[in-house]
Amino acid sequence: MNGAEARGIQKARTAACSCGCLKLTLEGAPERVYACACLECQKATGSAFSYRARYLKQSIVADEGERRRFRRITEAGRWMDQVFCPTCGTLVYMEAEVLGAQIVVSVGCFGEPDFAPPAAIFWSRRRHGWYEPDAEIRLLD
Ligand SMILES: [Zn+2]
Ligand SMILES: [Zn+2]
Repeated sequence: MNGAEARGIQKARTAACSCGCLKLTLEGAPERVYACACLECQKATGSAFSYRARYLKQSIVADEGERRRFRRITEAGRWMDQVFCPTCGTLVYMEAEVLGAQIVVSVGCFGEPDFAPPAAIFWSRRRHGWYEPDAEIRLLD
């Protein structure tokens, strides 16, 4: 058992929408935790930035509930799907052509205030002026 397992990071977590119909349970630690302040993420989340955890799809141990997808084609011509609950509208996860066998989950859906902070914030120049990230968070543009 390594240090991460000893601290309980390997436990299973469930990302659920507001009404609780769409649920995704993942086992183990995410590959990466990040935030993104691009305008697409601001619109998709209705917030100042997205806060997301990238997992291998093989980490999914349970998956239930109806869902709808909003597909967007990026400037590079690749598809990107925002997946949400048709009842309450919560954006639970994202899949994308460039992500391959990985899935990106909205961290807020875990309802776990002690979840790992983002290692980096993408499109940091688009972030709102009031938000000054901690020094440990890498700013990427
Ligand atoms: Zn819902
Ligand atoms: Zn973004």
